[in-house]
Amino acid sequence: MNVVLVGLPGSGKGTQGAQFARRHGIPKISTGDMLRDAVARGTALGREVASTLDAGGLVPDDMIIRVVDARLQQADAMAGFVLDGFPRTLPQAVALDGLLEGRGAPVVIYLEVSPDVILDRILSRRICESCGQADTGAPTTEYCASCGGGFVKRADDHVDVVRRRVVAYVENTAPLVEWYRDGPTFRAIDGNQPLTDVARAFDAAVFDCMKSGHPPFR
Ligand code: AMP
Repeated sequence: MNVVLVGLPGSGKGTQGAQFARRHGIPKISTGDMLRDAVARGTALGREVASTLDAGGLVPDDMIIRVVDARLQQADAMAGFVLDGFPRTLPQAVALDGLLEGRGAPVVIYLEVSPDVILDRILSRRICESCGQADTGAPTTEYCASCGGGFVKRADDHVDVVRRRVVAYVENTAPLVEWYRDGPTFRAIDGNQPLTDVARAFDAAVFDCMKSGHPPFR
């Protein structure tokens, strides 16, 4: 069960990806989380990408492809995974097809949301520092409802950076969605629905693809 999630920043990829991964006992692999972790730990990769993350740009394809290649070879990813935040460009998608050769083509789930909701969603977003779950909207609790952890803001969840992240999405990732759209394992789901309805649509879309033989894309 190899699942790729695409959608605008703030479309719910992290939240839905984490819940889907928990429901099905597979890892959620978020390239954004991996890069933020590298920055926080001050690794060589972290030092290289820090300013790009701060600016809301995209890190170079070859760099992120290497990171994902290494992660997908780990034992826990062999039976399946949910990828959140990768691929984000056409060269990354082509590279992913290569990385998955012999392992089954990915089911591509496009979380479609109206662009006018994402800014409010992201600007109000708090992330649990223990489990990574996002909480959006007017804050109703001081602690994470899933695990009781404290909340932090993402450093790049500020209005100017969000605008640049949306531009990066429109220029690089939106064409990728069109490239995937013709494939037999592409499904668009309405990300404007309540969380539980999105989760149900997400499960249904993935199982529908798998039932239809999970054919390779190209
Ligand atoms: P995310 O958590 O997915 O919103 O990613 C946070 C930031 O990490 C992005 O704004 C990019 O700077 C960087 N990033 C994450 N994934 C990728 C990727 N696949 N390609 C290039 N940059 C990425």
